[in-house]
Amino acid sequence: MRDFSGDHRWLSINTATVRKSRGHDARLTDIIEDCARRGIRAISPWRDQVAAAGLRTIANLAKTHEMELSGYCRGGMFPATDPLGLRAAHQDNCRAVDEACELNASCLVLVVGGLPGALAGKPAHKDIAAARTQVRDGIAELLEYARAAGMPLAIEPLHPMYAADRACINTLEQALDVCDQLDPARSGALGVAVDIYHVWWDPKLQAQIERAGSKRLLAFHVCDWLTPTTDMLNDRGMMGDGVIDIPRIRGWIEGCGYAGYSEVEIFSTANWWQRDRGEVLDTCIQRHRGAV
Ligand code: ZN
Repeated sequence: MRDFSGDHRWLSINTATVRKSRGHDARLTDIIEDCARRGIRAISPWRDQVAAAGLRTIANLAKTHEMELSGYCRGGMFPATDPLGLRAAHQDNCRAVDEACELNASCLVLVVGGLPGALAGKPAHKDIAAARTQVRDGIAELLEYARAAGMPLAIEPLHPMYAADRACINTLEQALDVCDQLDPARSGALGVAVDIYHVWWDPKLQAQIERAGSKRLLAFHVCDWLTPTTDMLNDRGMMGDGVIDIPRIRGWIEGCGYAGYSEVEIFSTANWWQRDRGEVLDTCIQRHRGAV
C-alpha cells in the first residue's frame, strides 16, 4: 500500500466538500485556486458548480494549474415513468459525458437513481425491480455513447438508505453484476466508484473489491461514518472522526492494483460547510496523510 504520510500527491478534493465556506456558497474558480495554492493535484467537481462558473472557464483553469479530474459528478438518475422521461435522462447523461470529456475527467460518476419521483417526495410506484431494469438499460444505452467518446463510466453504489430516492444500486456486488453484464470483456469503459461511506459496512466488501480488480476500480472516495449520524445526506465525517477503517479498505483497493487518487467527499451542513474553506482543505491534507 502506498505511503501517504509524506505528501499529498494522491489527494483529490471532491468539490462538494467545500461547496460552502462559512455557510455561504463557494465559487468553483475560488475552490480551484485554493486547492492549487496548497499543491492539491486533483479535484472532482459537480455539474452545477461547473455550470455556474462556465464549462470553458473551468476547463481552462484546470489546465492552467495542471489540475487533474479524478472524476466528474455526476450522471445517472435513469428511471422514469414514461419513454419521454427515459429519453430526457439519456440526453442529459450524454451532455454530462460531453462535459466530462471537455474537462478531461478520468471518469463520469453515475448515481443511478431510484423510484421515479421519489427524490421529489412523490414516488410514482413501488417496483424497485423495475427501476433496476431501467437503470441497467439506461447504462447500456449510455455506455455506447460514452465508449465512442472515450469516457469511462463509474457506477457508484449508494448506501441502502438511499435505495428509494437516489440509487437502487446499493452494493458493490450489484454494481459489478451490471458491469459484467454490459461489459463482459472488462474493456475499461465501465467500472465502479468505491465510496467507503456507502459500502464500508458490507460483509462482502473485500471479496467484491477483489472481484472488481484494477480494470473496474475507477475511483475511490473517502470520508467517515459518524456515530451518531444526525442527517442521512449531509452529515458525513472527516476521515479519522468516525468508525470506518479507511486504511484497511484502501489496502484492499490498492492490493488489486488501484493506483489513483483518494478523493475526499464530505457533505456536512452543520460542521464542515460552516467552517472556512482554507481550514477544511488543510484538514483534508492532514487527515489524508494520517488517517487514510
Ligand atoms: Zn462518492
